[in-house]
This record gives sequence, C-alpha cells and structure tokens, in this order.
Amino acid sequence: MSVRISQQARAVLAVLAERRCHLTAEEVLASMESIGTATVYRALDHLTEIGLVRRLALGKKSAVYEYIRDSHLHFVCNRCGAVHDIQTDMTGMIREAAKCCGHEVEWAEVTAHGLCKDCRAVWDEIPAQESVQ
Ligand SMILES: [Zn+2]
Ligand SMILES: [Zn+2]
Repeated sequence: MSVRISQQARAVLAVLAERRCHLTAEEVLASMESIGTATVYRALDHLTEIGLVRRLALGKKSAVYEYIRDSHLHFVCNRCGAVHDIQTDMTGMIREAAKCCGHEVEWAEVTAHGLCKDCRAVWDEIPAQESVQ
C-alpha cells in the first residue's frame, strides 16, 4: 500500500516514532520547530486516517497520539490521567470472541483504569505515616 504523506506529516510521525510514547497534539507541537499548530493537527488527522497513528481519547487529559507499532493495552490513571502501555496483546482473543457473531475485528483498543504507580505511592504514604505510632 502506498500512501502519499506530506513532509510535515512525515516529521510529525518521526517525533511519535522516536519518543515511543503517547503525546498530545500540544506536546508534538512543542517538540517541533517551525511548524504551525494547524499543520500539526492536520498531519495528525491524516496519519490517523491512514492508520499509522492511533488517536486515544482516554482519561481526563486531552487526546493523545501514538505511533502504531504493536498491539498493547492501555492503562489510564483515574487520578492524574497518565496513559501507560501494557505489553499484552488481546487482539487475538477479541478476534476469536467476535467470530461467533460474524464480526471481523480489524484492531482492538483495550483500556484498564486504576491508580498509577506514582499516585499509589502518594496514597500509600498517608496510612503508613498514621500507623507508625
Ligand atoms: Zn496517576
Ligand atoms: Zn500505547
């Protein structure tokens, strides 16, 4: 499959591929020089459309973008809104489950919700200090 990608879109993709994490459009914009806000948004939209980038609207933060490189789950912190990758592929399982209804799964996005490590550390400190006496 050959798709035409603009030079700007290529540059945006390079940022996402290099950072290997979830970035908001603002974060992509901040890490690039001499590129307009509208151009970044347009590039992200285009990359999402052609399936090179995934847009995730999770948690409280604004939507984040990631370069699609493998199947994984997402963990979203209910408190700080941080998005983390969990390297487990559930696509096969979901594909199998959908088969019985005659659906065809192209890709799956699974999100787990809870408290991230950093937020847990903050919570854990409170009862720990009380129980010292
Ligand atoms: Zn958190
Ligand atoms: Zn991810």
